[in-house]
Amino acid sequence: MAPRHQQAVEVAIQQFRERVKYTNDLHPEVDEKKLFYSSYCIARLYRPDKHLVCHLCMMLNPSSPMYMKQTEVARHCRLQHPHATLQCDYSNCRVKFMFPEEKQDHQYYVHEKTYGWWIPNN
Ligand SMILES: [Zn+2]
Ligand SMILES: [Zn+2]
Repeated sequence: MAPRHQQAVEVAIQQFRERVKYTNDLHPEVDEKKLFYSSYCIARLYRPDKHLVCHLCMMLNPSSPMYMKQTEVARHCRLQHPHATLQCDYSNCRVKFMFPEEKQDHQYYVHEKTYGWWIPNN
């Protein structure tokens, strides 16, 4: 049997995929940026307890959120994303970025827009 952590991650990814499919079937999104952030917000919604989803990994692979324990984020970023040095301005958000535009988009779609904007008919 897989460890509990791995199981929780697999369940989360499954829920994420079902929700993204449902959302896209109901309301197909053509704007690539909006589509990415809608998926990203859904990935955040379904993250296992005490886990985060890596924004930078998800930009590379939007269909498969990279979930990790909160305590592993700093190490992961140092090893995998050494060039991402910009930090989100919102407290309690540890997301890092390579470019100012990414940071701006993240803050807009994740923190400034009404929570749940990605839910169809909302
Ligand atoms: Zn990453
Ligand atoms: Zn943020």
